[in-house]
Amino acid sequence: MSSSGNCPFCSLGARVVGENDLAAAVRDKEPASRGHTLVVPKRHCPSFFDLTPAEVEACYSLLREERQTLLRELHPDGFNVGVNDGAAAGQSIEHTYWHLIPRYRGDHPDPRGGVRHVIPTRR
Ligand SMILES: [Zn+2]
Repeated sequence: MSSSGNCPFCSLGARVVGENDLAAAVRDKEPASRGHTLVVPKRHCPSFFDLTPAEVEACYSLLREERQTLLRELHPDGFNVGVNDGAAAGQSIEHTYWHLIPRYRGDHPDPRGGVRHVIPTRR
């Protein structure tokens, strides 16, 4: 669960749209909405809960910067921010990352509850 050999988030390369010392941001390849962005700590770390306080702070700082960029460029009306921790929770890459998902008025007929509805059958 902690091998970084073939990890796509350990070598983001030209996809990076923003970064600081400990974190990088990329746009999602299969965006859930226009501007869907991922914030990724630079160190290979499978679980959000094993990040250092400095890494969490760096990711938070980058989430705020990317939010400003998205507000300026795409004018979303809100955001969902979240981490999937563990395969059972939907984590698809074993290198933790944040989703920053811009939301637009009217993009869903009833957005109330937001991330509360990540279990579709419990909707
Ligand atoms: Zn990695």
